[in-house]
Amino acid sequence: MTKVYYDQDVTVKALEGKKIAVIGYGSQGHAHAQNLRDNGNDVIIGIRAGKSSDKAKEDGFEVFPVAEATKQADVVMILIPDEQQADVYAADIAPNLEAGNAIAFGHGFNIHFGTIQPTADIDVFMVAPKGPGHMVRRQFVKGSAVPALFAVKQDATGNAKNIALAWAQGVGATRVGVLETTFKEETETDLFGEQAVLCGGTTHLVQAGFETLVEAGYQPEIAYFEVLHELKLIVDLMYEGGMEKMRYSISNTAEYGDYVSGPRVITPDVKDRMKDVLTDIQTGAFAKRFTDDYKAGFPEFHKLRAEQQGHQIEAVGAELRKMMPFVNEEK
Ligand code: NDP
Ligand code: MG
Ligand code: MG
Repeated sequence: MTKVYYDQDVTVKALEGKKIAVIGYGSQGHAHAQNLRDNGNDVIIGIRAGKSSDKAKEDGFEVFPVAEATKQADVVMILIPDEQQADVYAADIAPNLEAGNAIAFGHGFNIHFGTIQPTADIDVFMVAPKGPGHMVRRQFVKGSAVPALFAVKQDATGNAKNIALAWAQGVGATRVGVLETTFKEETETDLFGEQAVLCGGTTHLVQAGFETLVEAGYQPEIAYFEVLHELKLIVDLMYEGGMEKMRYSISNTAEYGDYVSGPRVITPDVKDRMKDVLTDIQTGAFAKRFTDDYKAGFPEFHKLRAEQQGHQIEAVGAELRKMMPFVNEEK
């Protein structure tokens, strides 16, 4: 079993006396910034003018352009969208770093694929909470946390691991446990998980199920409930107690059907396709496609988004959710 770091393992107060800049104030940015501030750290925000900037000011932070925030800080956490990081790094961050500073990330994409290449005189680390930002903040406020991964890519000062662990403690993650990884492992597994299972796999499984029922003549509203709405109940059970708890809770009919029909849908061929997806991640082919599309103004991304938004399941779901105000209550 891999080593798990908890509060008591963070013996060096490596962020004490350091000025921290969080670059970006979105999902992850607001959570890192607010949690670290509540932990007594000196946090400023680096951001462009706009909605997030206004929000950061409302939340009581000192807000600066990215270049100025970087200049003031000893530790700079980069939490803007992955595709924008290389440009912002080159223009505003790199010119304002000093030897002995640290830069940090919430996902390893740009360091791992080499679109950001820091000079050898700075520390480079990652702290990646394993949950969306609002959860990172909400759990922290409750006195708990979501677990996180950390990694050190470059240790110029000899103190990079201590700083990374102090950061993980600052966002709360050592309350529940922090695992050490590498930029390579975090990047490749994170991309694979979201593409093959969590996002790409799940959306397309749900859509295929919906289409199968509708094409067979069943009402789209009924199909929506059966393949999308109820998914949450099933996933919650797996989240709480694995496949076993879920299978214990469902009917024997459903459990038996799981065993006999699941493998007919997710055939060995599906795993071969997953391996293809993993290969494209490992070779950098996916990163190149994403980065090239960004540089061209995201034509492919915008086309795909529009196509997906037009799927019948979305219109049906929007109507049905009006009957169910509770689905958006516990946010
Ligand atoms: P968001 O899209 O939620 O937020 C991005 C922030 O960056 C916004 O505040 C945005 O401000 C700002 N921003 C965008 N472009 C620029 C720019 N050119 N200059 C300055 N500021 C800019 O991002 P996420 O929090 O989702 O992602 C941040 C990082 O965290 C990524 O590396 C991601 O992979 C990682 N991550 C995200 C997770 C998540 O749950 N979302 C989970 C784990 C890791 P504005 O309002 O002006 O657009
Ligand atoms: Mg991700
Ligand atoms: Mg049913």
